[in-house]
Amino acid sequence: MTVGPILALNAGSSSLKYALLRNGGRLAGGTVARIGEPGEPEADHGGAVVRVLDELARRHPAPVAVGHRIVHGGDRFRRPTVLDDAVLAQIEELSVLAPLHNPPGVAVIRAARRALTGVPQVAVFDTAFHADMPAEASRYALDTATATRYGIRRYGFHGISVRYVAAATATLLDRPLAELHLIVLHLGNGASATAVAGGRGVDTSMGMTPLEGLVMGTRTGDIDPAVAFHLARAGLSTDRIEELYQHRGGLFGLCGDNDMRRVLARAGAGDEAAEQALAAYCHRIRKYVGAYHAVLGRLDAVVFTAGVGEHSPAVRGRALAGLEPLGIVVDPARNAAGPPARVISAEGGRVAVCVVPTDEERGIAEETAAALRPAR
Ligand code: ADP
Repeated sequence: MTVGPILALNAGSSSLKYALLRNGGRLAGGTVARIGEPGEPEADHGGAVVRVLDELARRHPAPVAVGHRIVHGGDRFRRPTVLDDAVLAQIEELSVLAPLHNPPGVAVIRAARRALTGVPQVAVFDTAFHADMPAEASRYALDTATATRYGIRRYGFHGISVRYVAAATATLLDRPLAELHLIVLHLGNGASATAVAGGRGVDTSMGMTPLEGLVMGTRTGDIDPAVAFHLARAGLSTDRIEELYQHRGGLFGLCGDNDMRRVLARAGAGDEAAEQALAAYCHRIRKYVGAYHAVLGRLDAVVFTAGVGEHSPAVRGRALAGLEPLGIVVDPARNAAGPPARVISAEGGRVAVCVVPTDEERGIAEETAAALRPAR
C-alpha cells in the first residue's frame, strides 16, 4: 500500500517517458521526445525533467518516491537500489559498459534529485532481471582473465519489461508464475528474446550491451565478431564501425526503413528489399524461439510485447510459422483481433501464444515501491 504517488522516469537516448502512479492507477504520464535535436524545445534530459516536474506539480500531488530506469547495472546492481551519492557515482562508472545508454539516465537522476530534495529515489536496472542467469548462459568463451578484468559477460536488458510481462502473462493464463516456462519477445525499436523459468531469466538474446541478438530497428543484432576486424583492417575507424552496427544496421540497414509499419507496407506492395528485411527479422526470432525452447526443455507460452510485438499480427504469424511440430500454433483470427492482453494460439495447442502489453513505467514504480518497503 502506497500513501502518495510514485513517479517513474524512463530515460531513452533522446526521450524521457514518465508516469505518476498511485495504488496501481496512472494519474498522469507522457513522453518528451526528440531531446537535444535541432529545433526542439528540450536541449537535454535535465531540462526535460524540470519541465515534466513543473507540469505535474500544477495538477497532481507531489510524488513520495521516484523510480529511475537505468539500462546497465553491471555486476554491482542486482536489484533496485536506493540512490545516494555513492550509488550514483557507481552508476556513472558503468557508463563505460553502456556509453550510449547510461548517461541519459544519470542526467535524469541528477536533475530529479536537485528538484526533489528529500524525496527517496530508486534506480531500477534493466540488467537486474537477468542477474541470476546461469554462468553457462552468461559467459562468453573468451579468455577468463580478460573477461574478468574488463567485465565482459552477457548481462541482458529489457529486464524491467520482461519481469512485468512475465507476471502479467501468469495472470492472463491464471497460473502461478513459479511453474511457467516462457519465452518473452520484446519487439520494440530494440528487440530481445528472453527465456524465463519460474519467473527467473535463464537466457536472453542481448549480451554485454543491447546490440546482440535479434534484428532490430537500426541494430544488427548477432553478427560474426570478425566482421569488425575485417572492416577495421579495411580502414574503417572504430567509431564508424560502431555507427554501422548501432545506427545503420537492422531493418534500416537491410531496406532503408527502421519503422516496422513502413517495412510492412513496402513489403506488402512488393518491395524486394523490405520483404528481405522482414524475412530476416522474422527468421532471427524463429531461431531464438527454437533455441530457447531447447534451453527451457518444456515451454508453456511464447509472449509478444512492445511496439511490434503488440501491434503486428503479420510479424507474430510469420515469426512462428512452421513451429507447429513444437506445439506452437497461432490462430489467424485470434492473431488479427485487437488488444489488450490475450491468447492467440489455436485451441488445443500445447504452447500458449500470448500478446501482453508492456508497461515499463508501471514496472519501475512497482519495483521502486518494493525497494522502499521496510525489510521483513
Ligand atoms: P521503444 O523500443 O522505443 O520503446 P516501441 O516499443 O514503441 O519502441 O516500438 C517501436 C516499434 O513498434 C517501431 O518499429 C514501430 O514501427 C513499431 N510499431 C508500432 N505500431 C506498429 C504497428 N501497428 N504495426 C507494426 N509495427 C508497429
